[in-house]
Amino acid sequence: MRILMVASEALPFAKTGGLADVVAALPAALARLGHHVDVVIPRYQGVTAGERAGTVRVGIGGQVAVAQIWIAAAGNVRTVFVDYPAYFDRPSLYGTAGQDYPDNPERFAFLAVAALEWAAALPERFDLVHCHDWQSGLLPVLLRNGYAPAGIARTPAVFTIHNLAYQGVFDASWLPRLGLGWDLMRIDALEYWGRISYLKGGILFSRLITTVSPRYAREIQTPEFGFGFDGMLRHRADDLVGILNGIDYDQWDPARDPHLPEPYDATNLAGKAAAKRVVLETYGIPVDEATLARPLVGLISRLIDQKGFDLIAEVADELPRLDASFVLLGTGNRRYEDLWLGLAARHPDRVGAQIGFDEGLAHRIEAGADLFLMPSRFEPCGLNQMYSLRYGTVPVVRAVGGLYDTVRNFNPRTGKGMGFTFDEYSAQALLDTLRWALDVYRDRSKWHRIQRAGMSQDFSWDASARQYVKVYERAVAATE
Ligand code: ADP
Repeated sequence: MRILMVASEALPFAKTGGLADVVAALPAALARLGHHVDVVIPRYQGVTAGERAGTVRVGIGGQVAVAQIWIAAAGNVRTVFVDYPAYFDRPSLYGTAGQDYPDNPERFAFLAVAALEWAAALPERFDLVHCHDWQSGLLPVLLRNGYAPAGIARTPAVFTIHNLAYQGVFDASWLPRLGLGWDLMRIDALEYWGRISYLKGGILFSRLITTVSPRYAREIQTPEFGFGFDGMLRHRADDLVGILNGIDYDQWDPARDPHLPEPYDATNLAGKAAAKRVVLETYGIPVDEATLARPLVGLISRLIDQKGFDLIAEVADELPRLDASFVLLGTGNRRYEDLWLGLAARHPDRVGAQIGFDEGLAHRIEAGADLFLMPSRFEPCGLNQMYSLRYGTVPVVRAVGGLYDTVRNFNPRTGKGMGFTFDEYSAQALLDTLRWALDVYRDRSKWHRIQRAGMSQDFSWDASARQYVKVYERAVAATE
């Protein structure tokens, strides 16, 4: 198949979150299966990759602008950069100082129109368009409402929701400014509580919708997880498919991870102890026999409520009293940054906190920790628990979304399972589960069995890419 993918970020060119990982790994996996993928993203500040490959005329709201196109090819995947400095040559992707850029509706409408114009002008036709998150949500709207050029107008779209919490909601006055008709201001089109939502457009005007885990696909149809979108998702339940993200084992495999002091695998975990020592040293936690024997709990996260940091805050003072040490790496909400820095200052022999983004340290924590804590309120897929499993670091998670799908709870009767999970979103449930895990940790043979169960899981992208191909084929068949 020839697939046109449109998104706002992709590794290694631009990343703010897990979306960038997916938009890099999925096309590569599709290419390994023999498909051709063109990935259209903005040419943001600092991107130097690619060769000049002509221009496209982008007409929006009666104005026509000319954007440069750059292309970087890698086998069957081409990354197509839309270069329009007034919109994309900026210090960050979506906004600065906690404020979204006010012209985001226009910036991402521009991306959608440029992608369609570029694709339509090619001699070859695409079988399918795959859009991701609200930033490309307008594209299916243009396709299905007579706004797309003839060369692409009949192509079916698939839309992937990576996080329903980000909905691309803007003032309705953007419709005429973007040259779109007021007929789109309908409850069964873009209208959302008197405003317009790009995410809604993507959901309603795509043939099929996917999201990043089977469990999250069900959850977002409920009021608790639906963020106001549960009704429309229930309405499209037959067209909504959950496909778990894969992880990139070229980057995340303890047997060949250049960030670790020593490689290791399930047959020999000695390298894991070496990583633990390095992590403790990094955080200034005294390295002695007692500390090395004591379980180390790792946290790597955006410090926001979604990730359960409000629960952790409730029991923060209990943590240093447990028979464990804690290391945190993250940035986010100031309140949680301060809370963790305060804990580390008061308990320097038990708690370490590092505020910042550090890829290498993230790898070393995944390797050096014994347990990984992820008590999310909601979690579309989650990557860190999958890294943890591969690194023999036992996850303690709330059983929601992708966490539910990837971490099977330890069963004391059978000894089976690969982590520790809890259902209720409460600080007590979190604390009880952590205590239980620390208790099981003392039984070394049980623990090794849990570790090995996790390390043998396969979350490679190839399996996920095959499921996407099935969805693509279904979308194409529904169009014919
Ligand atoms: P989300 O995309 O919601 O932030 P995921 O678990 O899906 O959560 O992905 C988070 C990714 O970002 C992981 O690869 C994780 O290791 C990485 N990450 C998050 N915070 C940091 C940090 N402070 N330093 C290094 N890597 C981080």
